[in-house]
Amino acid sequence: MANKKSNVIVIDDSEPILFLLDNILSPYFNVKTINNAKKALEIIDASYDLIIIDLMMPEMNGIEFIKILRNKNEFNYIPIIVLTAKYNTEEDVAKLFDMGVNDYISKPFFSAELIARSKTHSKIKILTERLMEANKQLQYTATHDELTKVFNRNTIFDFLENEIVRLKRRESSLSLLMFDIDHFKKANDTYGHLVGDQILYKIIKIIRKIVRESDLIGRFGGDEFIIILPDTDIEEAKEITERLLSKIRKERFKFRDKSITITISMGVTKYIKNETITKLTERVDEALYEAKYNGRDCFVVK
Ligand code: GH3
Ligand code: MG
Repeated sequence: MANKKSNVIVIDDSEPILFLLDNILSPYFNVKTINNAKKALEIIDASYDLIIIDLMMPEMNGIEFIKILRNKNEFNYIPIIVLTAKYNTEEDVAKLFDMGVNDYISKPFFSAELIARSKTHSKIKILTERLMEANKQLQYTATHDELTKVFNRNTIFDFLENEIVRLKRRESSLSLLMFDIDHFKKANDTYGHLVGDQILYKIIKIIRKIVRESDLIGRFGGDEFIIILPDTDIEEAKEITERLLSKIRKERFKFRDKSITITISMGVTKYIKNETITKLTERVDEALYEAKYNGRDCFVVK
């Protein structure tokens, strides 16, 4: 940020004013000048860090421009400085702030003051954006499993709860799968934990390609995962399960000179009206346990 100039757009119908502002601001900002608010709306994007705008303009005035801009979510954080010669009462100025204007300077103005205010507002915009980005990252970290990028346990259960609420409103079905990698401990012991991590990552990648985008994958813990299949009856769930098991069975996990085969076991069930999430997950867990007991690389429907 230290060396990069912020982007400022100046909107004013007076060419001499545009020329003047360009000269004043250019040493500190990348300045774009435009003499028409309507055209400015067409070209503006979120890369602008500051808008300096006049109020009295033909075709579209500053107030109209501000109203439209502040209605668009993606431009919420671009600060607006109104720079106008229009006589404004105290109330008018207060109204501007209510509309989402960040600052107000009347013409004639002091160059140094305009520069200082422009620097302050553009800096706040950039810092706000950084904060939002950091929040987004934090939100992602709090809801996803770091290694496989699927949802973590808390989040997948939140989704399951939501899906069940949704299901109650519509007559549909929901299936739930739970799988666990077979003899994964042995794979770790034989090839190392890092290879184990890569196998986990790759298995999820394969699964993502087979399930629908609306299906939700979460890490239950260790090498155990659950997959929520909304709007899916048990017959469809069985078909998907067969495809998943078969695809993983056939896959060769290649690491350096090694080619490893992996299998998974799966529990399959469907949501029964009015039952609790605990009951549902207990049943799918039992189904998975039975699949393990039956010799692994298979699934049990319960
Ligand atoms: P089973 O067929 O009965 O499931 O045998 P298993 O060896 O897979 O036994 P179990 O499921 O009890 O063991 C899970 C193993 O998964 C133990 C642990 O070392 C390994 N594991 C769990 N999480 C990770 C991980 O994030 N990375 C790696 N590399 N291994 C993991
Ligand atoms: Mg296992």
